[in-house]
Amino acid sequence: MMALAGVPMGLRFRVLDHAADCCAQDVAEFVRGEFDDDGALMRFAQGLTVATFDFENVPAASIARLSKQLKVAPNATALATAQDRGIEKQSARELGANVGAFMLVDNAEQADQALRDIGLPLILKTRRMGYDGKGQARIRDQSELEPGRQSLGGTALIAEAFVPFKRELSLVAVRARGGNMAFYPLVENVHIDGVLALTLAGTAVEDKLNQQAKSLARGIAEQLDYVGAFALEFFELEGKLLFNEMAPRVHNSGHWSIEGTAASQFENHLRAILDWPLGKTELRQPTAMINCLGAMPERSLALDLADAHWHDYRKQPRVGRKVGHITIQAESCRALADQVWDALAVLGMSAWQPSVHAALERLRTS
Ligand code: AMP
Repeated sequence: MMALAGVPMGLRFRVLDHAADCCAQDVAEFVRGEFDDDGALMRFAQGLTVATFDFENVPAASIARLSKQLKVAPNATALATAQDRGIEKQSARELGANVGAFMLVDNAEQADQALRDIGLPLILKTRRMGYDGKGQARIRDQSELEPGRQSLGGTALIAEAFVPFKRELSLVAVRARGGNMAFYPLVENVHIDGVLALTLAGTAVEDKLNQQAKSLARGIAEQLDYVGAFALEFFELEGKLLFNEMAPRVHNSGHWSIEGTAASQFENHLRAILDWPLGKTELRQPTAMINCLGAMPERSLALDLADAHWHDYRKQPRVGRKVGHITIQAESCRALADQVWDALAVLGMSAWQPSVHAALERLRTS
């Protein structure tokens, strides 16, 4: 998607990936190799103007290594900070963000202590390498604590209070090299089994929350001397935003911006890392993004939907895997809510309807 945004602007791309079916190879020169293989990194870096990443589990040491050869953004320290849930939550709290109760857990005693201090229910997560709900264990009862801890490797974990949130929101922001920033609107996200299923852009969010999210994004980006796009994920609870995590990259909850704004998150990320002026991030019309999880739905059904845009990543089907997304736009929030509801039924995703019902009701009345 980044290459698709950059090619019309005159850019050309090379991509490094360990997977033979790397989906960017249709639009970029492909170097196959491991992210920590020095030879592969050097073959990749040869002759490039600037390098970046769209996957946060790239080793920070590889980014530091590349930075010796060419311009790289975001920087390795920013990546390392965002790779550790403990450090990122600590930093956000120091910058004044509300963060739910959490404790670092490296052994059984600390897990017991977390249970006493935080209480049940509790969520244990690996501090590093978790994504899409992987690396998480929900602890509803004391007897689940030790098996849960063991299932996650026993150490380098974080224990978090379960947040009974009203909804989940995220903000995609972009910081240019000179420090100028652009912000997409806060959007509402619905996760199913820890995986993003639906993003709604246009649903009403209190101005106060938008301001809080932007000011935290500015604080984090300045502290990390961040360049490029990133996302902050929040829980909304009792009129407050609770920071959950930062993604140091273009983010799935920003994919709607391809159709929903003048300059998508991909375009603005490129502009930022190239030191070009940033483009407009205002929402043009209410826009929803439906993730295709596991497999793509029937194409002809999706293409028949009004104002729908089909994005097929050509990835091998696998349970829970994000293999594409569909963007839907409408004149009004009410119309969009109806269209998304109907689309889920048409696309064979009606099992999601109960989980997304409340979010679509909020959109309908926005
Ligand atoms: P994460 O990997 O932290 O983004 O978590 C994935 C999803 O799990 C989130 O988007 C939430 O839906 C849920 N989740 C994570 N942490 C918590 C928490 N502390 N309380 C309630 N739900 C959570």
